[in-house]
Amino acid sequence: MSDYVLIFVPGRLCKDDPDLWYALGPRRVARAKAICARCPYREPCLRTALEYQDVDGIWGGADPLERAAMRAQSGRTPRSHYAAS
Ligand code: SF4
Repeated sequence: MSDYVLIFVPGRLCKDDPDLWYALGPRRVARAKAICARCPYREPCLRTALEYQDVDGIWGGADPLERAAMRAQSGRTPRSHYAAS
C-alpha cells in the first residue's frame, strides 16, 4: 500500500469538510492547519505530499509554498502523481 492511500483512511480529521483544505482565506487556512496539527495521520500525509509535486491544498499541515520550501531545503526531487508508473 502506498503512502498516498494512507491519507484516505477513516479517522483522518479532514474527512468531514475536505473543502477546508483547499481554502484560500487566511482564517480558513489557519483552521485547516490547526486541525492537521492534531491529526493522527499528519506525518504520513506530509511525507506523501512532499513526495509528489502536483498535489494542491494543505497536507500534513503544510501548504504548497511551505512544501516547496521543505523540498528545496532537503534537496528532494518530487515526482508527478500523474506520471505512468
Ligand atoms: S494531516 Fe491534515 S490533510 Fe492530512 S489527513 Fe490529517 S487532517 Fe487530513
